[in-house]
Amino acid sequence: MSLDGVYDENNIFAKIVRGELPCARVFENPHVLAFMDVFPQSRGHTLVVSKQSRARNLLDVEPEDLAYLIQGVQRVTHAVNAALTPDGIVVTQFNGSTAGQTVFHLHFHIIPRWEGVALGRHGGGQMADMDELAHLAHQIAAQIS
Ligand code: 5GP
Repeated sequence: MSLDGVYDENNIFAKIVRGELPCARVFENPHVLAFMDVFPQSRGHTLVVSKQSRARNLLDVEPEDLAYLIQGVQRVTHAVNAALTPDGIVVTQFNGSTAGQTVFHLHFHIIPRWEGVALGRHGGGQMADMDELAHLAHQIAAQIS
């Protein structure tokens, strides 16, 4: 899908935000929702999405929504760091299918990294164990300040 286009109200993340699909929730406020990625590239791979914006990508988003979103990303990244003590953390975001984007509702990835542990494939790995995801979400949520 190109960078330009119409926002699909029925994309997976819109359904998660509306509560129509389940997620392993980490954090929520009126502006953002954070939850575990079900095809994690590493243990603790967390997604942060805007709840208000109908932006498909970074180019579409209203500055005010982006400000709330990136503040949410920083807050959750601190919590991931405190909960899982990784050696590094990748924060990333894809725009357009050619760039690797697969869900067209603006979101950021928070991907903890450990020395010597390879990064899993983006958008193509194995589905995580749901009990483990719930446990990780609980651990990270406990560190939200
Ligand atoms: P993108 O490729 O758009 O940057 O990222 C989309 C992410 O959503 C991928 O990392 C993918 O693993 C994840 N994902 C796809 N479907 C679902 C789902 O139903 N629930 C959750 N929690 N994550 C999903």
